[in-house]
Amino acid sequence: MNSEFVSWDQALRLFDEGATPLHELGIRADARRKELCGDEVFYNVNSHINPTNVCQYRCALCAYSCDADSPKAYRMSLEEMLATARTAAEAGCREVHIVSGVDPVLPYSWYLEIVREIHRAFPRLLIKAFTAVEIAWMAEISHQTPSHVLEQLKEVGLSTLPGGGAEILVDSVRQKICAKKPMSDVWLDVHRAAHRLGIPSTASILYGHIETFEDRVTHLFKLRDLQAETGGFLALIPLAFHPAGAQLPLGNKKLTSAADDLRMIAAARLILHNFRNIKAYWISLGVSTAQIALAYGANDLDGTVRQEKIHHDAGSLSPQCLTIEELEHLIREAGRVPVRRDSLYRAV
Ligand code: SF4
Repeated sequence: MNSEFVSWDQALRLFDEGATPLHELGIRADARRKELCGDEVFYNVNSHINPTNVCQYRCALCAYSCDADSPKAYRMSLEEMLATARTAAEAGCREVHIVSGVDPVLPYSWYLEIVREIHRAFPRLLIKAFTAVEIAWMAEISHQTPSHVLEQLKEVGLSTLPGGGAEILVDSVRQKICAKKPMSDVWLDVHRAAHRLGIPSTASILYGHIETFEDRVTHLFKLRDLQAETGGFLALIPLAFHPAGAQLPLGNKKLTSAADDLRMIAAARLILHNFRNIKAYWISLGVSTAQIALAYGANDLDGTVRQEKIHHDAGSLSPQCLTIEELEHLIREAGRVPVRRDSLYRAV
């Protein structure tokens, strides 16, 4: 990928309206997107499974998790997960995306069994499962390294790792928004281990809470450095923080503006010269902003997404599901060519 390398000072100026007006930033990001990806915009047909909302970490940023004795606590049985996977497979899904709370009573074998049984029953579904936070927990309870855990998950059917749990890869910020869960180095080490085992992953950035623009740039530079080392990241997913359901006051209780969302996507496109795919995740951004983001550097609209709970519990007002026709219409209306992909970003 032959592109301009963005320095620290240049990166910070991308977040400054005075230094880089939004329309100018959009033009630059769109040109880079066209250079790397042409006019094709990816989407996939996928379904989410969130097996439990019980989580021992209770991050301040999280609206989804709860304690085991909460009235809203749930744990899906294996049969319920298989039924969700069956519905997904019958609807033509190619990917099932599994992320969960970190429930302290569930054994390591529970995680292996979910992947093994879904893979056995629906081998055409690619399984994207478990954040780096969950992998680190599995390593702890099974007294193994994250690399050994990943090897075993790969053996039973894991295809890719999702990018969740990254939040902001700056520990002073993590201490405030997700103090109990693993810090930045652990997140990066798990993804490094996955890439070395031939398990690609995505990365995310959660923005719009207490982080500064310097924190955003630090985060993106850490991702860019790891990508230069391994080449294992398939995409970046910028996630807008939804404050309504967060457990603790986090300073900024406002939703991000569309201008901030578009600036985040465009800046990421320019800073991450070694990432081919930047996703406009419509669940997090809302459908309209996600569509406009296709002119600000994004080349992926995620997917049909059935049964997502985490962002909707946090206050997302986006629909629960988009049909293939709706996704393709959104892409065509933006002047682009829809291309259906699988979890590995291969056209299908
Ligand atoms: Fe648990 Fe993830 Fe929520 Fe933190 S963000 S409380 S790790 S589910």
